[in-house]
Amino acid sequence: MKNFLLPLFILSAMIFTSCTRNDVNVNYRGNPEPLLKNAYIKLPLGAVKPIGWLKSQLEDQAAGLTGNLDNFWPDLVNSSWRGGDGEAWERGPYYLDGLVPLAYILNNDTLINKVKRWIEPILASSSDSGWYGPAKNRDRWPLAVANKVLMQYYEGSGDNRALNVLLKYFRYLHDSPPDWPDKDWRGVRAMENAVTGYWLYRQTGEPWILETIKSIENNSSDWTAYYEKFPWDSAAVADRKIPLNWGPDGLTAHVVNNAMAIKYPGLWYQQSKDERYKKAVFAAIEKYDLNHGQAGGRFSGDEHLSGKSPDRGSELCSVVEYMFSLEELYEILGDNRLADRLELLTFNSLPGTTTPDMWAHQYDQQSNQVLVSAAKRDWTTNGDYSNIYGLMPDFACCLANMHQGWPKFVESMWMATNDNGLALVTYGPSVVKAKVANGRDVTVSEETDYPFKGSVKLTLSMERPTRFPVHIRVPGWADSVIIRYKKNSVVVKGDSEYKIRARWKNGDQIFIEIPMNIRVEQRYNKSLSILRGPLYFSLRIDKEYKSVKINYDNFGYKGSVDWQITPKSPWNYGLLIDKGNIMRGLKVTENPIGKYPFADKGDMVWSSDSGKYIMITKDAPLVITARGIRIPEWTMKDNSADIPPLSPVKPEGDPEIIRLVPYGCAKLRITEFPVMDVTLMEDMMKQK
Ligand SMILES: [Zn+2]
Repeated sequence: MKNFLLPLFILSAMIFTSCTRNDVNVNYRGNPEPLLKNAYIKLPLGAVKPIGWLKSQLEDQAAGLTGNLDNFWPDLVNSSWRGGDGEAWERGPYYLDGLVPLAYILNNDTLINKVKRWIEPILASSSDSGWYGPAKNRDRWPLAVANKVLMQYYEGSGDNRALNVLLKYFRYLHDSPPDWPDKDWRGVRAMENAVTGYWLYRQTGEPWILETIKSIENNSSDWTAYYEKFPWDSAAVADRKIPLNWGPDGLTAHVVNNAMAIKYPGLWYQQSKDERYKKAVFAAIEKYDLNHGQAGGRFSGDEHLSGKSPDRGSELCSVVEYMFSLEELYEILGDNRLADRLELLTFNSLPGTTTPDMWAHQYDQQSNQVLVSAAKRDWTTNGDYSNIYGLMPDFACCLANMHQGWPKFVESMWMATNDNGLALVTYGPSVVKAKVANGRDVTVSEETDYPFKGSVKLTLSMERPTRFPVHIRVPGWADSVIIRYKKNSVVVKGDSEYKIRARWKNGDQIFIEIPMNIRVEQRYNKSLSILRGPLYFSLRIDKEYKSVKINYDNFGYKGSVDWQITPKSPWNYGLLIDKGNIMRGLKVTENPIGKYPFADKGDMVWSSDSGKYIMITKDAPLVITARGIRIPEWTMKDNSADIPPLSPVKPEGDPEIIRLVPYGCAKLRITEFPVMDVTLMEDMMKQK
């Protein structure tokens, strides 16, 4: 009997050991106990690099505002964060939150040196109490941003001093009274500190860090209860009950706070392990869509939550913060819907609200945006300059905060898996270098023109054949995706994850074919939006850029311009469409992707070579021809396109060929179209 029991014991121990090994990544630190295990593990900054059009996009960003802003914007030039006597609050940390990842992802020495000139004074400011930053700042809010900066800087540089500053600061928070009032930014945004807190816990395993996060969660705004109740819904918009103020209730209706807070229940879920918090995340996304949803994956807020009408604005800060929230949430929850949404924001709302050269941005973008000008619009709380593409239209928070969008997206495109493999999270041309299996180095290059095209080729490079899994996210909107590898070919349903467990050798390839079918989405007043893959399409409106002076003169810096953009062709088209056969009458043309991926002909870009602005003459990477009929009674109201007339609209007048381009390429646009049904029109023609 004894002889029989012993082998059983050894066998079960072996099974247990192998389960544990497959369950915990041995190369990257996931959540240790007592935290819930995260679905994936973010790779350290610099592991994922862009290639192809995505590299052009990040290089454009580096050559545009991000690489130049601290040379001329007084709030950065004289920032107290870098040892000056100027701005001492959020603007320096906001800027660095994008500059640091951009510098290390591009491995750009000029930008890395720029980073170091900022970081040295910050590291030196760390005091015995643990507090750090400019002496004249006593507010915890900008430190919540600076924490994320130091976290990324540590990953990019390996500089241990950054880790020590963070540990000391979290010790300070642990030992001080909570002080997270609902009436202040530091209170409503307090859980932003948990992003760094959990990261710090993963690095150090110090149990008191979790006590600190628990205290923050217990003593700051209750966003979970807010999402469960969601007081600021469509009825509140219709009844004008959204609190348009900057007090405790107004701050819960503030679009950027909402975009940041989506991740807070998810962050706390790791520690509470209570399903209530996970549910709140998805309830939040659903309620934003239902009550304030806009084409391009975002929700409105100009600057308080403002409903679904396509003339409502969305502040740029809310787009990049929503993206970051989704990146954090995907790591924790691994739910495909989060990555689908992240792609929508990244490929539509983000490029749609900056110029292609990233020298200018808007404060508020609109789905139906037919005039960009300094004029009164029906915003809730924003000013007349909000939809200008410029340096700091309306207010300068977005100018400081916009830089994180593209680089953090690149960082999260690939993640490590708990079974020591790699996960393809969001698509785009990229190269990932990471450790898999038991510490083996592997490089995967992803060649693709996604989201403009649906073919993806992964090429795996390694020294010795290695067995490891590759997890492939299949987008929710895809009918079926064909995946080919070695001698296999499989068809995978949309909204799933496909895991390939194989022994890979150098040069092995995986081919992914994602069908880019056109589909429609019903929007405001039964209007329709056209989508192809993760891209929304908008009416191309001929346009004229004109440089305007608003309330300042861009500090005389070459490249920085404020643009007014006026329409030079009609925009009030209804879409003639056959709902039974969407493709009827539509034709898609694929064009080469240029140096500015999200540009269309007529856009102006800064040429540093010639020292002047030049006009783009090439078509956007995709152009769809469709048929439309003008609707004379659909006109402007308050300097925006009025709400689209209720669809279906009775067709009157002659059909014309209209051209649609990706939302991100259309600085003037109609994205929510009134619809005329082709079959209805044909019936009328017969009656004539
Ligand atoms: Zn902003």
